[in-house]
Amino acid sequence: MARRKIIAGNWKMNKTPSEAVALVEELKPLVANDDVDVVFCVPAIDIIPVVEACKGTNIQVGAENMYFEESGAYTGEIAPAMLTDAGVSYVVLGHSERREYFAETSETVNKKMLKAFEHGITPIMCCGETLEQREQGVTMDFIRQQVKVGFLGVTADQAKTAVIAYEPIWAIGTGKTATTEQAQEVCAGIRSCIAEIYDEATAEAVRIQYGGSVNAATAPELFAQADIDGGLVGGASLKADFGKIVNYK
Ligand code: PEP
Repeated sequence: MARRKIIAGNWKMNKTPSEAVALVEELKPLVANDDVDVVFCVPAIDIIPVVEACKGTNIQVGAENMYFEESGAYTGEIAPAMLTDAGVSYVVLGHSERREYFAETSETVNKKMLKAFEHGITPIMCCGETLEQREQGVTMDFIRQQVKVGFLGVTADQAKTAVIAYEPIWAIGTGKTATTEQAQEVCAGIRSCIAEIYDEATAEAVRIQYGGSVNAATAPELFAQADIDGGLVGGASLKADFGKIVNYK
């Protein structure tokens, strides 16, 4: 069965609640494509107004992070039940910016993955190499490690519903998109890794996105690749361009 494409915007730390609602109103008609899953991953404070603004549309709302405990003395964190109660269905986990600036590790990503599944939230688990790792020829070793640790204890049935975003760090926010061949090669490698951990059926079901300076011009070729099931889009998700990316065909 063909995998359904998933195109998610990662708003990062942009847009106040009122600006967020205005952006949703602008993008709503532009992203109305029922052939793909459309997700807006927004800052925590924007979640409730964005969920409200997206009611009756094809847009699903995601969070950009989540903590792995149920509740308690974790000042500043957001619990999974808070997200589901607010209407969130996806969560970005292990984005390279969180790994770099907020000491996120594959071990904490794994704890968050398990918690997300427990609460019925679909994780979009990010992985990707630095430019140095690419030049050293260890891209796939590094990513396999991120995927293997991230999925520890995740069942095959859960893994089938997961989304993995391959995001080469050197391509994020830099305007340098990986070539189609580079992106396809790593996404295929990630799928093989999932097949090794689980089985072919799980590998065939899991959705793998490419992320890193995706724009309206690069999306059609990237998303046409056999192992690329859509994109995680940063900068271009805040503009009307996102509509063109969602309607890439
Ligand atoms: C991202 O934030 O995940 C991302 C890929 O950003 P950009 O599209 O701006 O490179």
